[in-house]
Amino acid sequence: MTESAAAVATRPAPSVGEPEAGNLIFCTTCGNKMAPNAAACPKCGAPNAGAAPRTSEKGFLPAVLLCFFFGVFGFHRFYVGKIGTGVLQLLTLGGLGIWSFIDFIMILVGNFKDGDGLPLKR
Ligand SMILES: [Zn+2]
Repeated sequence: MTESAAAVATRPAPSVGEPEAGNLIFCTTCGNKMAPNAAACPKCGAPNAGAAPRTSEKGFLPAVLLCFFFGVFGFHRFYVGKIGTGVLQLLTLGGLGIWSFIDFIMILVGNFKDGDGLPLKR
């Protein structure tokens, strides 16, 4: 017995990983405190309505430019991580331009998702 129980008890509680108290928000479902950027409540699992919607790391502007200039080569699909359909588009010349044109419209209206299914960053 070299370590006394008293010494253990007086150690400060570890604060590593604790979010800043002032930054916490409350879950609208169960009232649990959670980080404002949490995707869902860690206690009840309810989605955090206040969190910014997850968006792709890939930007809207590069995608729309790549699609406009190199759409028939599928460059915009390579850019957002859709390698498989990018190759397919390259081989078919963007579905003879129709497929890449549809992609171009989809990017413009914000319906084009990256390889992880996330909307492009504006
Ligand atoms: Zn909750």
